[in-house]
Amino acid sequence: MSKHTDVNTLGEFGLIDHLTQHVELSNGETYLGIGDDAALIDRGDGYYSVISTDMMVEGIHFDLMYSPLKHLGYKAVVTNLSDIYAMNATPDQITVSIAISSKYSVEALEELYQGINTACKRYGVDLIGGDTTSSPKGMIISVTAIGKVEKGKEAVRSGAALDDIVCVTGDLGAAYLGLQLLEREKQLYLSQPETQPDLEQASYLVERQLKPEANKAAVDYFTKVGLVPTAMIDVSDGLASELFHIAKASGVGIIIEESKVPIHPDTQEMALKFNIDPITCALNGGEDYELLFTVNPRDLDKVRYMPDVFIIGDIVEHANGVKLFSTGGKLHPMKAQGWNHFESKE
Ligand code: ADP
Ligand code: MG
Repeated sequence: MSKHTDVNTLGEFGLIDHLTQHVELSNGETYLGIGDDAALIDRGDGYYSVISTDMMVEGIHFDLMYSPLKHLGYKAVVTNLSDIYAMNATPDQITVSIAISSKYSVEALEELYQGINTACKRYGVDLIGGDTTSSPKGMIISVTAIGKVEKGKEAVRSGAALDDIVCVTGDLGAAYLGLQLLEREKQLYLSQPETQPDLEQASYLVERQLKPEANKAAVDYFTKVGLVPTAMIDVSDGLASELFHIAKASGVGIIIEESKVPIHPDTQEMALKFNIDPITCALNGGEDYELLFTVNPRDLDKVRYMPDVFIIGDIVEHANGVKLFSTGGKLHPMKAQGWNHFESKE
């Protein structure tokens, strides 16, 4: 009998590592391949082309019971642009590929494209191609984003050095709670269809889940003040998971102060209603699409005056691992819990 190893034994990142372990780069222009938010290709004119791709699958990444198609199109673009900004780069073009089952009408797909077009306009990117095909069930959307960054200005995951300062933009954990709320309302609706959804109180959380934004402003600020982060990653799988990526790629340890992690008051309040510690939402939630970055201490003043940014910790020796200094005054080792995308065996 041939061998059958369950993909769950490796986890998402273990699987990527396993499948790509023998990949060798043979083109001189390929400056950075697998392992960062985006790849970097030398354009030969003092810039790198920056390329990233992501896929969203109905039933795994979105549920049309609560995701309006317009928002879905917008989110599919924005999440890819976020990976380009995470390299300290500017996105210029996207391609969009869709696989659709026959349950989708032309009108529904028009709505999806309204969202795609709105995102393109808002972020100044051109839709330059893609592919359209049928799917036996549901919808799959794959977006590839292409951008550029001046050589030397790129921010990769591997650049964090001892004593660097760890910063994060915006606030964390809101999108995760938005999803919990939408799921709760869905279950309620399925069991009692006559009830009206009660999401008014939670508009911030729901919007962070359904219509996230990529942090263009942060990258614009870096350019304006001449700051190049030593390392950067976008927060798509939760702060803990992203901290581990930077620690592993840079060969360093990280200590984060719990009291410094930015959490919106609405997130605080709703987490407590759900009986979850708000810090857990920030560490293990995901889909915040904020930027986590490190800077050399000599650039401290430049981040101090940066709007909407929080200094949350320090880069330490590798042997320290990745730890959280709790509000109770204790050092806790962190766990990197990303999303488990392989739950369904269908
Ligand atoms: P992000 O969360 O920033 O989108 P991912 O976690 O999806 O990044 O991917 C991590 C890295 O692995 C990226 O460099 C990505 O291009 C690469 N990668 C993911 N899946 C594959 C695959 N099936 N084959 C080759 N490279 C992959
Ligand atoms: Mg990313």
